[in-house]
Amino acid sequence: MDEAVKWLKECMEVFPLLKKHNITCKYSKLPKNVLGRVKICYVEEKDIDTRALLIEGRRRVSITRKRDDEYKIEISEKLKKVKEPELRRQVVEHTIIHELLHIEENDFDVIAEDYKTRKKKKIHVKAFKEEVFRRFNQLRELCKVPVIENRDDLDLAINKIVTSLEDKT
Ligand SMILES: [Zn+2]
Repeated sequence: MDEAVKWLKECMEVFPLLKKHNITCKYSKLPKNVLGRVKICYVEEKDIDTRALLIEGRRRVSITRKRDDEYKIEISEKLKKVKEPELRRQVVEHTIIHELLHIEENDFDVIAEDYKTRKKKKIHVKAFKEEVFRRFNQLRELCKVPVIENRDDLDLAINKIVTSLEDKT
């Protein structure tokens, strides 16, 4: 099994509410400074005013965009450059958990918008980061890996790993 798929499966263990959804995960080429993102799929539904058409001969069609129940998580392929598998797993799973939390909190429409709006809506608030940290530790516990006490330490460590990858292009 592809490692991204395998690690998504592990992360899903701490997101029981999301189990009914169709979520995929793969490595992708992402913009610099983006570790992960969620792509949302939409389906267009056409609706027609039957009375207007059949009685008045007027065509009144409306198209609504409905979110499809499919979420595609993409992980920056530069994370593949983390050589040690266990270290890579931790960084990738942390990224996956971040994206899964966006799905669970329904931040979707916000994510789909441009960066400026996103910033205004403040989806990466302290509570969000705390929750990512909590789920990450929950997963580590499940996997019998020691939990991390301090969120700042974790952020610092992940930042350090990601920065070190930049030099190795
Ligand atoms: Zn995010």
